[in-house]
Amino acid sequence: MPIHVLPPQVVSRISAGEVVERPASVAKELVENAIDAGATEVRVEIRQGGRRLIRVTDNGCGIPQAEAALAFSRHATSKLRSEDDLARITTLGFRGEALASISAVSQVTMTSRTEGEPTGTMLRLAGGNTIQHEPHGGTVGTVITVENLFYNTPARLKFLRSETTESSRIVELVSAYALAYPELSFHLTDNGRLVLQTSGNGRLYDVLIKVLDPQMGLQLLGLRVPDLESDLNAAPVSGQQPPRITVTGYVSVPALHRATRSYQMFFVNRRWIQDRSLGFALEEAYRTLLPMGRHPVAVLSIAMSPADVDVNVHPTKREIRFQDPRQVFSAVQRAVRHTIIGQAPVPPAVTEPMAVAPSEWARQAQLPLQRDWRTSAGRGQIALEAQRTADAVLSASVPMVERLPMLRVLGQVRQAYIIAEGPDGLYLIDQHAAHERVLFDQLQAEQSAMMASSQTLLEPLPLEFSPQQRALLESVLAPLASLGFDVAPFGGNTFLVRSIPAALNPEQVRAVIAELIEAAKDGIEASSPQSVLAVIACHSAVRSGQTLTLDEARQLVQHLEKTTSPSTCPHGRPTMIHLSSLQLERSFGRR
Ligand code: ADP
Ligand code: MG
Repeated sequence: MPIHVLPPQVVSRISAGEVVERPASVAKELVENAIDAGATEVRVEIRQGGRRLIRVTDNGCGIPQAEAALAFSRHATSKLRSEDDLARITTLGFRGEALASISAVSQVTMTSRTEGEPTGTMLRLAGGNTIQHEPHGGTVGTVITVENLFYNTPARLKFLRSETTESSRIVELVSAYALAYPELSFHLTDNGRLVLQTSGNGRLYDVLIKVLDPQMGLQLLGLRVPDLESDLNAAPVSGQQPPRITVTGYVSVPALHRATRSYQMFFVNRRWIQDRSLGFALEEAYRTLLPMGRHPVAVLSIAMSPADVDVNVHPTKREIRFQDPRQVFSAVQRAVRHTIIGQAPVPPAVTEPMAVAPSEWARQAQLPLQRDWRTSAGRGQIALEAQRTADAVLSASVPMVERLPMLRVLGQVRQAYIIAEGPDGLYLIDQHAAHERVLFDQLQAEQSAMMASSQTLLEPLPLEFSPQQRALLESVLAPLASLGFDVAPFGGNTFLVRSIPAALNPEQVRAVIAELIEAAKDGIEASSPQSVLAVIACHSAVRSGQTLTLDEARQLVQHLEKTTSPSTCPHGRPTMIHLSSLQLERSFGRR
C-alpha cells in the first residue's frame, strides 16, 4: 500500500514514545525497514560508534518518488491502515514514526528507487527540515545515511556511552537480525573494518558460528520439536483451536554455560524481543543440569499467529505481550528439555521404588530422540510416557556430574559394558558410547586447533557415487578437508580418497562418507561440524560384542575421565549408569 498518514484514531492506539535513544536504535529502525522492504542484502556501515555515521543500504522495493517526502512525516506508513491491522501485524515496523524521529535529531540523506520508476529520489534533511529534494539515478533499493546523531540536542549526546559500547550494541543488533533472517545476507563494517558478513544461504547454523565463537558453535544442539499440542497441523480439539506455536533454534549442551544471560536471544515471529519470562522458561528446562548462577546459551525462535501476540506494547517494539503466556512458556520449556534430555548427567539407576529398570530408563529416555516425530503415528502416548519418566528421573535430585571420579575398572560384562568402582558406588559404562565420546573430543580438539591429524592410505581408495551423492559430497569436501580427509574428484562420479583422519578406521571410510552424504541431504543440522565429527567417532569406536582386555578397558576409562562431558556420548545418550553406595545399601536392606 502507498505511504499515508495514519488517521488520529489509529495513532491514538499506537504505543507512543521516543524510539531514538542511541545509535543502535537508529540502526534497528533502518534495518527493520530494509527487511520490511523485502531486501535480500542489507549492508550496515557505522563510524565512531554510530554517532558520526550510520548507513544502511538495501536492495528492497525502494520508495516511490512521490512518497519519499511523506516517509519522513510523523505517523506516515505503508504497513498499516486500520485499527484492525494492529491486531495482526506481520511487518517489523508499523508505527510510521522512525524516519520522522530520526531525521529530527540528525542529518539524513536518503536515496531510493523503485523497480517501476526510471529515476529515483535523493532527499536530504537536517533537524527534520528538508534541505534538498531532487531526482536521482541509482539501483533499485534504498540507502539511508544518518550523520551526526543528536547534533542539535546536546543534552542527549551526553547520555551516550563510549564509542566501543555503542558500536558493540550495533554489532549485537545486526547479529540478532542476521540470526532471525538467515536467508538474508548481512554485511556490517565498523570504521571501515568488516565485522560481520553472512551469506544469506538460509542456514541458521552457519550464521550462529559466525556470531558466536566457533568453539561454542560446536556445543550447540539444534532444537528437536516435540510438537504435540503445538503441532501446527493438529486437529482442533472439541471446537477449541489448538495453540499454534513452534519453537526452533539452538541451545547449549549442559556442559556449556556462561556467567551472564547475554548469550541468550529470543525472537517472536522473527522480531528480536526482550522477555524475562522466556528466559525463565529456557532456564527451567536446564533445572538441575547447570551449576548455580550459570546460564545456558540459546537462540530461540518462536513462531505463532500474529493475532496471538501484541507487539504494540512499547515504542521500541522490543517488548511484547502474549495472549496466552503459559502456552508459550511451556512450548519453549518442552522443546528445550526435549532437546537436552539426552545430554543429561550420569543417570542414576532407580532402585526405590523400582519404577523402571536402569536399562529401561535409558531406553525410554532415548525414545523421543529416536522416533521420527513428524511421521510416526500414535507417537503421543509412548513419547509422553518416556518424557515423563525421563523428566521425573532428571528433576529428582541429580547433581551435575561435570567430572568423573577416579574409577577402578573391575571387568567387562556381556562384551559391551565395563564395570567399575568409584568412591560412591558402581559404574556400568557402555564401551561403544564411551569410546565415541573420547574420539569425538579428540577430533574436536584437533579441528579447533586446525591440526587435524590424518593418515595417508597405503593405496588411494576410489569410491563411486550416484550423481546426486556426488553433488552432495562436493558440498561437504571443505569441511571434510578440515577434518583430515583428502577426497578429490577423479572423473565422472568417482572420488579418490588419499588420506583420512588418524582416528578413523580405514575399513570404515566408505561407510562414513556414505553417512556424511546422507547427513548433507538432511541439511542444516546434519552438516554441522559437530555431527560430522559424531559420525566419524561413531564409526571408529569399539563396538559392543568386542572383548576388551582389562588394560584396554582401563585405558578407555582413563581417556573418558579426561573428556569434556564424560557422561554422554556425542549423540547425547548416556555413556554410563551409576549405582550409588546408598542405593546399593538400600537394595540390600541395610538402610
Ligand atoms: P514504519 O516502518 O513504521 O512504517 P518508518 O518511519 O520506519 O515507519 O518508515 C516509513 C515508511 O517509509 C515505511 O512504511 C515504508 O513505506 C517507507 N520506508 C522506510 N524505509 C524504507 C526502505 N528501506 N525501503 C523501502 N521503503 C522504506
Ligand atoms: Mg520502520
